[in-house]
Amino acid sequence: MGRFQQSLIRFMAGRRGQDQLCIALFAVGLVFWLLSVIFGSFVFSLLSVAAWGYGIFRGFSRNIPARERENQWFLKRFGGIITKVKQAYVRFKNRKIYLYYRCPQCKSWLKLPRNIGEKNVTCGHCGANFNKKA
Ligand SMILES: [Zn+2]
Repeated sequence: MGRFQQSLIRFMAGRRGQDQLCIALFAVGLVFWLLSVIFGSFVFSLLSVAAWGYGIFRGFSRNIPARERENQWFLKRFGGIITKVKQAYVRFKNRKIYLYYRCPQCKSWLKLPRNIGEKNVTCGHCGANFNKKA
């Protein structure tokens, strides 16, 4: 193993690295940076540097319990939104393979393979039974 790798491993020991809040801070920083480019605003570039700076600080911090608390706080408030965005992305990616639709009774997302024709469907969440054409 090279000297650089060894020192990098030593440097990262006891730090937790990236978590969901770090990734979100990076994304928020990117949005602020784009806004600063679009509007030529110094305030937005300052906000983007602040978001990135805080994200980098968190990634390298050795105070793991404090960073864990921050991440849990973040997930409690925004975890649902993150899941929804991820699910919407999967639906979009597979939109040619599956027809995605909501259960008429409980509004859960269900899917059917495309071009399967009319099917009798039972919702796995609430047990509603109905016909669906895909
Ligand atoms: Zn249902």
